[in-house]
Formats: sequence, C-alpha cells, structure tokens
Amino acid sequence: MESGKQLPVAILGGGPVGLEAAVACALAGLDFVLFERGTIADNIQKWGHVQLFSPFSMNFSQDACRLLSESGQTVPSEGSLLTGREFVEQALAPLAETLKRFGRIEADSEVMYVSRDGLLKSDLIGNSQRQAVPFRLFVKAESGESTVLADAVIDCTGSFGNHNWIGNGGIPCVGEQNFPERIRYDIPDIQGADRAEYQDRKTLVIGGGYTAATNVVNLSELAKTNPQTQIVWVTRRRCSVPVPRIANDSLVGRDSLAVNANKLADADNGPVTWMPGYVVEEIQNGVNLPLSVVLSNAENHERTVIEVDAILGNVGYQPDRSLYKELQVHECYASLGPMKLAAALMGETSADCLAQASHGIDVLRSPEPNFFVCGSKSYGRSSRFLMRIGIEQVQLVTAELSRTLANREPVQT
Ligand SMILES: Cc1cc2nc3c(=O)[nH]c(=O)nc-3n(C[C@H](O)[C@H](O)[C@H](O)COP(=O)(O)OP(=O)(O)OC[C@H]3O[C@@H](n4cnc5c(N)ncnc54)[C@H](O)[C@@H]3O)c2cc1C
Repeated sequence: MESGKQLPVAILGGGPVGLEAAVACALAGLDFVLFERGTIADNIQKWGHVQLFSPFSMNFSQDACRLLSESGQTVPSEGSLLTGREFVEQALAPLAETLKRFGRIEADSEVMYVSRDGLLKSDLIGNSQRQAVPFRLFVKAESGESTVLADAVIDCTGSFGNHNWIGNGGIPCVGEQNFPERIRYDIPDIQGADRAEYQDRKTLVIGGGYTAATNVVNLSELAKTNPQTQIVWVTRRRCSVPVPRIANDSLVGRDSLAVNANKLADADNGPVTWMPGYVVEEIQNGVNLPLSVVLSNAENHERTVIEVDAILGNVGYQPDRSLYKELQVHECYASLGPMKLAAALMGETSADCLAQASHGIDVLRSPEPNFFVCGSKSYGRSSRFLMRIGIEQVQLVTAELSRTLANREPVQT
C-alpha cells in the first residue's frame, strides 16, 4: 500500500441496499469498494420470478435514478411493479455498472471475516480509540484470498438464504437435514423451471407469512392444470386465517396475496388443506410417498403423520453474524439484529412495514466505531424490512461517515 493513503469505505453485499450505499458514497465523494459474493443482487435473482409488492419509486432512490439516466439508461417508471428479475436487469445491474466510474465493484468476492487491524474483540472495549485503527477484511474470490483494509464498513449482506429450521422450537427436527433434495426453504419457480418437482405431487408448506402464501397460491395455480397437485399448509399459530391481513394495506399486491391465500385455506373442495396449530417433530422415509412427516398439535401434543412428496419450509431467515464476530457489535438476543435498532423495532406496534421510519442514525451506531449493519440484515429475524428503509439507513450512515472520516489521519505503512 502507498504511504499516507486514506482507506476506502467497504460495502459488503451488492443487493439493493449495498448498491444504494455505493450511490451515497459516490455522491458524498467517499472512496468505496463494494464486495458481492455472487453476481449483483444475487439474493433477489433467486426469487426473480416473484413480483415485488412495492412500486419502483420505493425501491430505488432519486439519486440512483439520476445516476442511471445520466449514464444513458432508461429508468423504470415510478409506479411500476417489477418482478425481482426485472428489477435486477432494468435497474440494479446497470446501476452497478454505472457505479464503477466512482469506486470499485467486486463481484464474486465474498467477505468472510471482518476485524480491526492488530486488535481483538476484547481490546479497547467500547473505546473510541478503536476508530483510529483500520478494519481488516478477509475476502475470498475466484482469484484467491486477500486482505483488504478499510476505514469504515457497511454490512448489507442481507439474510435471505440463511433460513430458519422447520423443526419444533426452531431447531432442526430429526431427519430434517437428511432430505436436501426434497426440502426447500425458498420460493421455487413453481410454474416455470421447477414445475416438474410439484405438478401432480403433494407438497407440505410450512409457515404463516407472505413467502408461504406465495408458494401456496402458486401451487394452487398449478393444481388448475394438474389436478392431482395437493397442498398441506401447516402454520404454528392457531388464528382464524393463516396470513393475518394488515389493516388498510396500501401495498395492494401484498394484501391480495393474503386474501387469496386465506381463501384457498378456507375452501372445502380445493387443493389446499390448512392445518393450524401444528409443529414438525420428525421427517422420515415414507411408505407411499417419499417423505413421512410427524406433526404435533401445539395445544394437546397429539401426533399426526402425513406423507408428502416435497416440503417448502418458509419459516423465515436470520442474519449470519459470523462475519463480524471479532468486532464489538451489540446484538439483540431475540431478533439477532443490532441492539438499538432492535429495541426501537420492538417498540413499534404496527405489523405494517410501511408504517415504519428508519429510526435515525443513533440506532444504527454500535460500540464498534464506523461499523454499520444496514438493509434487511439490520432487522435480524424480523421480516418487516422494506428497501425504502434501507435506502434511508445508508444515506444516514454515509452522511455520518462524511463527517467522521473527514478528519481522519492518513494510514502510514
Ligand atoms: C419474495 C420476496 C419479495 C419481496 N418483496 C419486497 C418488496 O416488494 N419490497 C421491498 O421493499 N422488499 C421486498 N422484499 C424484501 C427484500 O428482499 C429486501 O427488501 C431486499 O432484497 C433487501 O435488500 P438487501 O440489500 O438488504 O439484502 P439482499 O437483497 O439480500 O442482498 C444482500 C447481498 O449481499 C450478498 N452477500 C451475502 N453475504 C455476503 C458476503 N459475505 N460477502 C459479500 N456479499 C455477500 C448477497 O449475495 C446479496 O446479493 C422481498 C423479499 C422476498 C424474499
């Protein structure tokens, strides 16, 4: 490294929020390097066939729109409801290309660990002197492993893909890890590429959120052309409907998903059998169908055995915090998100993510100076996050970094 060089802001994750962090850094004149472990917006591409609930204007900042149009790209209209794939192709991937004029965008580069150069987690506890010491990142790319130093880190690595387990109590049930080819935890392209796995088959869907609802609705659509398709829908909660509606939900697509899924669960002669108030105890080889699943009634603990072809476990995701385990990050023991933000979120009464604000910069600060967790990862296990919040978060963080990094001493090497 050159003598007297100031270090970049390291942005971890090239999803919508990481890219917005890069936009904010570019406009603030902060040098940045963004690491994405796969291709740009890799997580969104995994559910690219699903339509977003929120209109484009909520998912992409005005600044990002301006950068795109200045580089000659057509910007999607404000109200458009894009699929995940369209969002990547029409906005996020071109934005990443545009951002290369301002900083480094490193795809296929996974940040494995972050620490402070020469300091351990237990050194200078809660002491702002840690700020004077650069961050040290261990990065793994196809070209090999490397160490990168940075003055600040914005962790936007999301939580999608790091799924919760379907077993009773949130740990794997007996057998859960033995059938990886038959148990998925995401949103397969049921009417497209993954159709053969589900048509005229019996699928167990587990979970009471919008991801489970999406799978139930898509499987039911498949049942219209392939009438042997059956769905057993298990929810842990015993409510009047599987997906409680949000009062006066202004995201029309989200509300109609809840309405449609609830109708399917209620129908007597449809393809869906709803089993409220059950948890999964064990999964074994079946006799007539490939999987035999032991369910227990959460109230009276009575057991029921069903046989199915496949399982879709949609019981949420949680952040992978191993990346920053050598840093002094104060986490909530319930949500696994950064503590101050978690406390602010717990104080909220509305289940509607639209009702939320970003809660300001203070809740994003942790005992580790100049280290910030933003985006969906900052919400820990909560699924209420919206991209709109992440955009506000990274704008606040970048404004803070512009102030704190302005007076930094160049690193002497
Ligand atoms: C089906 C579905 C529909 C949704 N619809 C909406 C909607 O309509 N509106 C809305 O606001 N939100 C919606 N969400 C939530 C939405 O996914 C998030 O708001 C958004 O993707 C979060 O962006 P993010 O950048 O925080 O995380 P992600 O999109 O998860 O991006 C994280 C990125 O970090 C990368 N990464 C992970 N680990 C590392 C590492 N160690 N090193 C380097 N890179 C790494 C990943 O590959 C990924 O590209 C939806 C979610 C799902 C699953």
